[in-house]
Amino acid sequence: MKVAVVGTGYVGLVTGVVLAELGNDVICVDNNPEKVAKLRSGVPTIYEPGLEEILKRVLKEGFLTISDSIADATRASDIVFIAVGTPPGPDGSPDMTAVQAVAHSIAEAIDKPTVVVNKSTVPVGSGDMVEEIIRSHGVDSSLFDVVSNPEFLREGSAIQDTLKPERVVIGSKRREAAVKLVELYAPLGAPMQITDLNSAELIKYASNTFLAMKISFINAISRVCELCGADVGDVAKGMGSDSRIGPQFLNAGLGWGGSCFPKDVQGLLITAQKCGYDFGLVREVIDINDVQTPHFLDRIEERLGGLNGKTIGILGLAFKPNTDDIRDARSLLVIDHFLKKGAKVQAYDPVAMEPVSKIHPEVQYTQNAYEVADSADVIVLITEWNEFKQLDMDRLAACMKQPILFDGRRVYSRAIVERAGFEYYTIGA
Ligand code: NAD
Repeated sequence: MKVAVVGTGYVGLVTGVVLAELGNDVICVDNNPEKVAKLRSGVPTIYEPGLEEILKRVLKEGFLTISDSIADATRASDIVFIAVGTPPGPDGSPDMTAVQAVAHSIAEAIDKPTVVVNKSTVPVGSGDMVEEIIRSHGVDSSLFDVVSNPEFLREGSAIQDTLKPERVVIGSKRREAAVKLVELYAPLGAPMQITDLNSAELIKYASNTFLAMKISFINAISRVCELCGADVGDVAKGMGSDSRIGPQFLNAGLGWGGSCFPKDVQGLLITAQKCGYDFGLVREVIDINDVQTPHFLDRIEERLGGLNGKTIGILGLAFKPNTDDIRDARSLLVIDHFLKKGAKVQAYDPVAMEPVSKIHPEVQYTQNAYEVADSADVIVLITEWNEFKQLDMDRLAACMKQPILFDGRRVYSRAIVERAGFEYYTIGA
């Protein structure tokens, strides 16, 4: 099939590359000239395991081209995906400017039957909005359909998630349009659910909010554990062994961040409000998350007897492992706090130091975890990269002014780090 994907971020680039790998003729479009130039030369603009290899291959074999023209890509394609960002606006609800701009550009170019697919995460009613924009350009309704096809990939495993999705959701007013997408995705062999537009849009918000709720729940349990002398790891294991609950998203930590959960949870709250439903549970999910990292920081400050003049070593900056994405990363809150309190911060992350250094040039970025520990008063683990799980804890302790470790993701065994001489603190214990 002939497919255009507008927006070459984490979702658009991975979608385009995988659809090209499946043998479709794909054009990926972006309005950022630097990204277009990089991608044309086969260099990925994001860090995602497995991406570079497939990108280079599909470019070489001619299944993928990179363009800066939505008009050209629309005219050359039967299916046009919108995969641009919907970042949170001032009130927390998604900023739809990019989606609207792309819809206008697509509308100007439609000259034959076209299925316009919204892959960006958007509030309920956005499919209708895109349809309205296209119709406002005088495009006859019989010439196009708008379909909602929310994306569930996870950064860090985006290629695998796109090749083997647990489900594909297709929301459409017309069955024929949905069937086009069913044909496109058929080679993946994934279960597909066809719904109306609004339900498809709500499935995405509801799914992400449910996952955030699980995290907030176990984080609230972690606070109870700290107060009553229980261990949240044991509690989560016992809970998660119940197949009705499941073990996933029950890892107590510093709270959820990233580019999706904060805006999608807020998006559901606002969507419900607009429909006339006060979703108090979602508000509580946000409130629990908001205090989780500050509470951990208070514990660090209390242990060190103040932060002014202290040297803090930070392990991990990305919002989660296996990505360079730092949008709404807990590391940014933590660094900001330590710097404001007069501490010196040294940090290491396998791939995310460059984006953080643009926000915090005053942090000293190191070559590895051991340099982070150099003369530090405390080490704070923020992102649970695998390489941090394999550290030589004796060597790490020996580098420090005093071996104190605050583990924000519960990755270490207390017995092992204490044997290395560390004083060990973690969440929910
Ligand atoms: P992103 O910010 O990484 O990428 C968006 C891309 O769109 C950028 O490359 C930008 O240059 C481009 N763009 C913006 N305006 C444009 C325009 N007018 N014309 C052409 N290109 C334009 O965003 P992302 O993380 O890929 O997310 C995209 C959407 O998918 C969002 O709605 C997000 O909520 C949703 N989503 C993201 C994830 C994820 O893990 N990142 C997962 C599921 C869903």
